[in-house]
Formats: sequence, structure tokens, C-alpha cells
Amino acid sequence: MNYTRNLRYCRRQFINVYNNSFSTSVIKSQSVQQVAQPKRICIVGAGPAGFYAAQYLLKQLSDCSVDIVEKLPVPFGLVRFGVAPDHPEVKNVINTFTKTAENPRLRFFGNVTLGTYVTLQELRERYHAVLLTYGADQDRELELHNEQQAHVISARKFVAWYNGLPGAEQLQPDLSGRDVTIVGQGNVAVDVARMLLSPIDNLKVTDTTEYALEALANSKVERVHLVGRRGPLQAAFTIKELREMLKLPQVETRWRAEDFTGVDAQLDKLQRPRKRLTELMLKSLGEQSSRQSGDVSKQFLPIFLRAPKAIVEREMEFAITELQENSAVATSATEKLPADLILRSIGYKSSCADAGINFDARRGQVCNEQGRVLQDKETKQTAPGLYVAGWLGTGPTGVILTTMNGAFAVAKTICNDIAANAFDTTSLKPGFDPSNKPIVTWEGWQRIDKHETEAGKAKGKPREKIVSIPEMLRIAGV
Ligand SMILES: Cc1cc2nc3c(=O)[nH]c(=O)nc-3n(C[C@H](O)[C@H](O)[C@H](O)COP(=O)(O)OP(=O)(O)OC[C@H]3O[C@@H](n4cnc5c(N)ncnc54)[C@H](O)[C@@H]3O)c2cc1C
Repeated sequence: MNYTRNLRYCRRQFINVYNNSFSTSVIKSQSVQQVAQPKRICIVGAGPAGFYAAQYLLKQLSDCSVDIVEKLPVPFGLVRFGVAPDHPEVKNVINTFTKTAENPRLRFFGNVTLGTYVTLQELRERYHAVLLTYGADQDRELELHNEQQAHVISARKFVAWYNGLPGAEQLQPDLSGRDVTIVGQGNVAVDVARMLLSPIDNLKVTDTTEYALEALANSKVERVHLVGRRGPLQAAFTIKELREMLKLPQVETRWRAEDFTGVDAQLDKLQRPRKRLTELMLKSLGEQSSRQSGDVSKQFLPIFLRAPKAIVEREMEFAITELQENSAVATSATEKLPADLILRSIGYKSSCADAGINFDARRGQVCNEQGRVLQDKETKQTAPGLYVAGWLGTGPTGVILTTMNGAFAVAKTICNDIAANAFDTTSLKPGFDPSNKPIVTWEGWQRIDKHETEAGKAKGKPREKIVSIPEMLRIAGV
């Protein structure tokens, strides 16, 4: 956008502001210069944190315009590329995000990567405030010898594979063996176990990518071990995910009775969600000896109190642990589990997208205080007009609801800082210039969306995701 077009845009914003929300008296009492200049805010990353922050800002600041720049040609981050395909109800948040995107004061620029396509400095020069919400796209490693072998992959990559993240189709996980060992017991680990053990007909009606459906249909996996360092009372999965596993057709869940020694006695001391989860595990354990094996063909095997120690060919060695004040402490005893495929699911971490970001590489997140990015770690001074929200700021914890609350809180901080003149919002800021660039606009995304849903309909699926970026760009009309 050149300067004249930009001025025109500012005037249009001013008219919108005038028409929509400001009372005439407020308008008259301020100079045109002050009111006509919209507060330009750039959000980096079109995941839940980005969209929820945009929603809040657009609602609370009637004189702001929000641009979202997103690395991929398509929006929604982990809602599209993380949430399990057989949890379509979770993806309903996309309707809220779409409503936000349709606000005339929001522009979406897909196919724009912070750090390569645009720098943080450029964005800070072009906007009054920049909010970083580019998520956590790396995984934590076990730091074991042999971890780089082909049969050891991260759950993050496996999830990206079945969810059609561009580039992930090349993963081709080897599903020709009988045993998969998943290290970690969070909900992502359970999602992965469910995808491996679900009857293929259950998955055919989801938006699982075709290549993944084909591989899963030919899978020889029969047993999935879900291994955690701590005990049942510390299990990281939640009750809904466990219930789904217990109900999977033709799949038997088998617990180890010795993992539950003394657990009964703790029940009354537990908070309600933990108590209900523990009761369900105990109930399932109690029923397992009398359960008819019937048409069971696969097993789900949660195993507690085991810490990863070594990867030895098609086996994984674990140290047997003991709990000391809720922490797992390794003993000298070990156990080996069969592992034709090892999936590491011990958490995500963020990367530093731009050299200008004050990034804590050890924790894998942007240094911040309540969403205000710190200029440097020593003085704790904040960088004016620079904010972070979502997993990039908090670390990879919680669900979409948690991310929403966090994003609203940071957006509120931005509003408060603007009201307190904590950074300049009066100078003219041009915003991102999309001209002559391979940008996917919101209309472009809608073309991709239409194409995907139509292709899905033909196969009885909610959508058939396009996994190639050039193909996405072609359909978007870039
Ligand atoms: C496998 C998995 C399953 C999950 N399932 C559920 C569930 O069922 N229910 C639930 O409530 N929660 C679930 N969650 C949690 C939920 O996905 C997160 O709470 C939420 O997505 C975090 O939002 P975010 O915006 O911080 O990050 P993200 O969703 O990761 O969004 C970040 C966005 O930034 C973009 N980006 C990355 N780098 C750049 C860059 N350099 N420049 C520009 N853009 C960039 C990314 O492409 C992405 O679109 C799941 C998480 C995972 C990992």
C-alpha cells in the first residue's frame, strides 16, 4: 500500500470508527489528526492465540485495525494441524475465528513467515504494536543415544503427518511392526495411540489425510504402550481421552495392577477431576480379569513409573522409578519394552523466529512478563509495543480454552498500555504492504476452504486437506 492509498485507508478507518462506535461529542473534542489515525496492530501467527487476541482488540478498540501475518497459506494453527481428526467438535472454534476474520478492520496475510519473509524490525516500524503468537513448532527430545534412528519419531511429526501439515507427508512412519511405544502420557500421546488403534472405518469419515488413511489401513500395529515416568495419580491424560480409549472397538486396555499399589487409599484426598480419572482407571483395572477377550485384536497398554533410559534396536529400555514427593526418581532396576516404532511425546517448544526477539532457548519461549516482551533479561525492561501470547509466551501448556484466556489477558494489557500512552500510537504507520507479493488473503483462504470441503464431500469426509503449498497458492489465486 503506498502512502496515498494508506491515507485513504486511514480515512476509511476514521469513517468506520465514526459510524460504528464513537459518539459525536468524543469525535468533536479530539483533533482529527488523533482520531483519524487507526491504531495499527500486527499479530504474528493465525492460531487460537492470534485469533482470540484479534477478537478482543477489535471489540475493545474501535479505532484499531488488526493485520494477522501467518507463515502458512492457511489459518488456524494447531486447530487444523494438531487437534485429532476424530475430534471435529473441537474444531468448531474455527467458526468464531472466521467471524473475527470477516471484520472489515482485520486483514489476513497468509504465506508470510516472520524471520524470513518479514523481520520483526520491519513490523515494528510499520505497526504501533506487534503481538507474537507463532506457537511452539519444535519438540523436546529424550536426549538418548540412537534417538535419531528412523524408527524414533516425535509425536509432533506423527500428528502433523496424519493432519496434513505441508511437508509432513514425507514422514512415512513405519507401521509394519507389532509394537509401538509412546513415551509420554499427555493427551497428545493418547490422541496418537487412538489414531493407531482406531478401526479404520472410524477414521475414514474424518479429515485424516488420504495418505495417512492408506498407511493406517495397512498398519500391522497391534499393541501401543503408553509409558510415563510417574504413577497413575500423576497421569497427564484427562478423563475424556481415557474414556474414548476404553470404548474403542476391538481394543483392550490392560493396566498393570502393581502400578496401582496404594492408589485406592489416596482417593479421598484427591481433587474432583483427578479423583474421577483415578476412579475410572481403577474401575477398568478391576474389570480387566473378567473381561471377555471376544473380538479383541489390539491392546492399549498404559505403563507407569518408567523413565526412558536407552534405545536398543527394536526395544526401549526404561529405568523403573519411585515417587519421591511427586517426582519420579530412577532406581537401578530396568525393564525393556518391545518398540518397533518409538513415538516421543514429551512436549513441544518454540523456536526463535527472528534475531530481534528476546528468546529463552532453554525454556523454549519468548521472555516476557504478563505478555509484555522483555527487552533484555537483566533489567526486566519491556520492549514498548511488543507483546507475546499463546504457547509462544506460556510454553506448550493447556487447551484452547487456556490459550483463549491467556490471549484475552494479553490483549487487555495492550489496551491498557495504549490508554496509558505506554508506547506511541499517534504517528502514521503504513502497515504491511502486500502489493506484488505471493500473499494469501482471507478470500484466498476461502477458495482453499471451498475446494477442500467439496473434495471431502465426494469421499464422505468433512474436508480433504491440500498438503502442498504450491497447490494451496494456485487454488488461492496467488
Ligand atoms: C497434537 C495437539 C492436539 C491438541 N488437541 C487439542 C484438543 O483436542 N482440544 C484443545 O482444547 N486443545 C488441543 N490442543 C492445544 C491447542 O492446540 C493449543 O492450546 C493452541 O493451538 C495454542 O495456540 P497458539 O495460537 O499459541 O499456537 P498455534 O496453534 O501453534 O498457532 C501458531 C500459528 O503461528 C504460525 N507460525 C509459526 N511460525 C510462524 C512464523 N515464523 N511467522 C508467522 N507465523 C508463524 C503457525 O503456522 C500457526 O498457524 C492440542 C495441541 C496439540 C499439539
